[in-house]
Parts: sequence; structure tokens; C-alpha cells
Amino acid sequence: MVLVVVLKKCDNFMMAPKIIAIDGPAAAGKGTLAKRLAEHFGMELLDTGLLYRAVGRKVLDAFVEIGDDPKFFSVIAEKIAQNLIPADLEVDGLRTDQAAQAASKISTVPEVRAALLDFQRDFAMNPPNRGKGAILDGRDIGTVVCPDADIKLFIFASTEVRAKRRYKELQYRGVEAIYARVLEDMEKRDARDIERDASPLIPAKDSFQLDTNNLDADRALAVVLDYIQNK
Ligand code: C5P
Repeated sequence: MVLVVVLKKCDNFMMAPKIIAIDGPAAAGKGTLAKRLAEHFGMELLDTGLLYRAVGRKVLDAFVEIGDDPKFFSVIAEKIAQNLIPADLEVDGLRTDQAAQAASKISTVPEVRAALLDFQRDFAMNPPNRGKGAILDGRDIGTVVCPDADIKLFIFASTEVRAKRRYKELQYRGVEAIYARVLEDMEKRDARDIERDASPLIPAKDSFQLDTNNLDADRALAVVLDYIQNK
């Protein structure tokens, strides 16, 4: 009895899962949730969007125009993806909307996705601090990268709510932005992510789906921790 009470009082008593896969569209809250889960459980975190952003950035830096037809950039994007190194994820300019749009275009190329698969799976199986487990967030983690993840989460919210969040974030960072443009960019990115043939953005069948339209970050974390504890 005493033991039960002591264990219930211990916040971090919950066993850390080995792999947590988090998917969802942009600005749904998955990045913040992933960071907070990583802190809570002491797990290593890989924001897989950075891989695609880094490839997109490098294609742009090579002065290759990334239009709507992949045949003009697929070969160079594949080469860049094959040669990506961890330092490429540290460069400035990966968080810009230009990098996000480039990422969403090069990510439609199946060869690019294939080239980035081993890196992501290796991170999941051998996280940098061995034994603590890995959290990967992206678009196809629960469906393709880690189909055997212990916990799969799909985080979503309406396009308008997500565009408002992104707009506020840009204002906070002092970046000039027009709401209608932010909304339009988000719709375009969502459409490419959902409609592409290669690993489209869809919830894994066995995922826990969380609507964050009316949830702040604290509440979202609490709901997910409750789900993990009771799974
Ligand atoms: O998550 P983030 O917004 O940084 O991702 C940028 C883009 O990279 C996404 O819009 C998507 O097109 C692509 N991406 C992907 N698969 C992932 C992660 C990101 O296709 N696992």
C-alpha cells in the first residue's frame, strides 16, 4: 500500500517507451510536444523535418530552381540527401518558410526519402545516449520510418488555427508576415504532404490522434502522458 502511494507520487515513475513516433501537419504542436516528452522521459529527439529542410536548403544554395516539376531537381536532391551529414542540420536558415517550401517539394521525391531513411532508423534504434530511447517527429514516422514504434501519436488542428499559430510565432520573432500568405503557404504545404505518393502524411492505423485546436502545450502533454501511462 505504502509502495503504491510512493510510486503514484513519483512523476517520472512511468517507464520510458523505447521509440515514440509523432506525426502531423505543420504547427499542430508536435514539435513542442516532442521536446517536452523528450525532457520528461530523458529520451533523444530527432526533428526529421530538419533533414528535409537541409536538403531543400542545399538545393536552393546550388541555384537550382525548385518549381513544381520534380524532374528539374530530383537528381541533385537525391545526391544531396545521400551525402547529408549531421553538421548540415546545424546551419542557419533551416527554419525559414523558404526552406519549408523547398523541403515540402524535395520530399515528394521517393529517392530523397529513401536516402534519408537509414539515418532516421539508425537514430531510432541507436539514440545518441544509448538506452534512453528515441522520439522522432515528422510526417511518416509511425507509418514508414518506425512502423513498430511503441507509441504512435498523430497531432492535428485546423488549418486556420495552425496558420494563426505560425503567424503569431513570426510576429513574436519580429519577422514581417501577412496572415493570408501564411495561410496560403500552409495550405500548399499540407496539400503536397497529403497528396504525394511517397509516404504521404496520414495517421498510422494504430496511432493515438490528438486534436490540439483547443489544447495548449501543457494540456496536450498531460493528455499524451495519460495515454502512455494507460497503454
Ligand atoms: O516538420 P517541418 O515543418 O520542419 O517539415 C518540413 C517539410 O519536410 C514538411 O512540410 C514535409 O514536406 C517534409 N517532411 C517529410 N517527412 C518528414 C518530415 C518532414 O516529408 N518525416
